[in-house]
Amino acid sequence: MRVHTGKRLTVVGAGVIGASVAWLAAREGWQVELIDPLLAEGAEQTGASWAAGGMLAPFSEAWPGEDDVFELGAASLRRWPDFGARLRDETGVDVFTGTGTLLVAVDGADIERLTMVADWLTTHGYRPQRLTRTQVREEVPSLSRSVRGGLLVPEELSVDNRALLPALRRAAEAAGARLSARELTSIDECGGDQVVLAAGSDSPRLWPGLPVHPAKGEILRLRRRPGTPPLPTRIVRGLVHGRHVYLVPRDGGMVVGATQHEGHDQQVTVGGVRDLIADAEALLPSIGEYQLADAMAGLRPMSPDNLPLIGRLSDRVVAATGHGRNGVLLTAVTVDAVLAELDGGQLADAKAADPGRF
Ligand SMILES: Cc1cc2nc3c(=O)[nH]c(=O)nc-3n(C[C@H](O)[C@H](O)[C@H](O)COP(=O)(O)OP(=O)(O)OC[C@H]3O[C@@H](n4cnc5c(N)ncnc54)[C@H](O)[C@@H]3O)c2cc1C
Repeated sequence: MRVHTGKRLTVVGAGVIGASVAWLAAREGWQVELIDPLLAEGAEQTGASWAAGGMLAPFSEAWPGEDDVFELGAASLRRWPDFGARLRDETGVDVFTGTGTLLVAVDGADIERLTMVADWLTTHGYRPQRLTRTQVREEVPSLSRSVRGGLLVPEELSVDNRALLPALRRAAEAAGARLSARELTSIDECGGDQVVLAAGSDSPRLWPGLPVHPAKGEILRLRRRPGTPPLPTRIVRGLVHGRHVYLVPRDGGMVVGATQHEGHDQQVTVGGVRDLIADAEALLPSIGEYQLADAMAGLRPMSPDNLPLIGRLSDRVVAATGHGRNGVLLTAVTVDAVLAELDGGQLADAKAADPGRF
């Protein structure tokens, strides 16, 4: 690792990706400016990082054929315990909320899809535990009797992204980064010897032609009320007649997500809420007794091949964007990859994410 004392770095975007880069680059001696209009005091948080479910879930997000996506996610999950511990040491905030994912299915076709994913994971040297209907209900007794079977992935983690995001911004500031609450209209407005573009789904506005597009995701936050059955102790991810839904236990309640539609609009629709609740209820019949505390839509920064874009766009600009459905998971490996680029190298684990592939 080189020391960069006095060299100036501008980071555009203070979501989980930009805030993490700003924090750890400042720790390496860069003189950092972190720019984002959402840094203004009292600004409503509309970024994907605030909307997210907080799952660190490369195994349950795995899909046959997406080998590089899986390997990158697994590389990031390995880094998360140290990354989270370092953040806790510097800020006092422990962002981890849970361990282990239970993947469940309700009909024959859903079971077939789970089996296909389990078989594919096995070819990658990982054997998720296959559970019968009875074993699934032993893991989470409040699950519906209509759940027919599942897989257990004990290694996956979850974090509270709404604790993570402010903690990262505070850590960046404490490490010496200057926080600027403003919106850039052009990358040329950036000072700095180097620039990291981490503007999420808006990144192409600053780098036209960058292959990143938004996919809207609606997500709910529920609060447990007195007398409601106990919360699941695992993340529960379900396939309900082909539709995905997840329940992430969180601090007296749970997060229920998420819809997926192409486009820029960030309104929460009645249909989106209805589908999420209906699918969640198919897994957890007691869900109707919870308080509906929050509903939000965020924009996932998608790329054409579901891999992010991490690497050089020019001598001065490094991309850290396009993290799609997994940006919270990928934060830990992205920071290492960006710091390696700023050092003049490339992180082997993140080679597949080089934007030069487009
Ligand atoms: C509903 C939903 C659920 C999700 N669940 C998960 C999950 O469980 N696990 C997981 O790993 N991932 C999840 N994701 C994906 C994850 O949230 C994203 O991949 C990740 O947050 C992307 O982080 P980011 O920092 O790149 O983008 P953002 O959080 O969107 O941050 C980008 C920032 O750039 C700023 N910006 C934009 N333009 C400019 C400009 N011109 N000048 C200055 N600043 C600018 C914005 O204001 C914003 O704050 C989910 C996403 C959604 C929508």
